[in-house]
Amino acid sequence: MEREGRWIYLCAGFWNLPTTGTDSRAGALIHAASHFDDMGSTNHHAIGRAACVKLAATHGQRSNCIWNGDSYRYFAEDAYTYDIVAGVGEVESPIVHDEH
Ligand SMILES: [Zn+2]
Repeated sequence: MEREGRWIYLCAGFWNLPTTGTDSRAGALIHAASHFDDMGSTNHHAIGRAACVKLAATHGQRSNCIWNGDSYRYFAEDAYTYDIVAGVGEVESPIVHDEH
């Protein structure tokens, strides 16, 4: 049977993740959705928060972050807990600027 549309398969461990916050269910779904060709066509250039921060710091604007599923995950997870306008909340990784 040919399946149409978009499918995300969830393993049992998904249900052990926290609902929101770092490495949450919400973040896992954002990561997975970013892989669809018409939603970002991302890949796995870096997995995990520390690797994503390093990817951003290493390559700056030429970064593969835009093609990296976990980068979208952490952006969304941090945006949920950090009020950008008011400048309050918790961000677990600093925004790193490449000076090159
Ligand atoms: Zn993935």
